[in-house]
Amino acid sequence: MTETLIPSEIDDEVDDAGLPSGHMWAYPCKLPSCPDYGKSWQLRSNFLAHLQEQEAHISTATTPTARRSLELAWRYSTDPHLPTRAAPGFRSREDPDEQVWVYSFRDDKLLAKS
Ligand SMILES: [Zn+2]
Repeated sequence: MTETLIPSEIDDEVDDAGLPSGHMWAYPCKLPSCPDYGKSWQLRSNFLAHLQEQEAHISTATTPTARRSLELAWRYSTDPHLPTRAAPGFRSREDPDEQVWVYSFRDDKLLAKS
């Protein structure tokens, strides 16, 4: 059996070649039981360190292969020049009603009030 190639966990740019120009990967934590649920990292190495250090992930992210598959399943591409937005499919734990994140219509809301 051949082992799947796992890129170095300290290499932040490992998959950047596949991104649209000007975009970068963001790595969100999507484990609802994790205290950092909903937080996103822009550095792959920091995200992978989180998976290794945070107790909530220890049972599912013990091996580099497991961490690699979480990384690929959760990451999303983002444009660093736009305001930070939540990863797709997030639900705020504190405010479950506010599951739809406003991406760009904040100004319209303000105008509608006046
Ligand atoms: Zn986490």
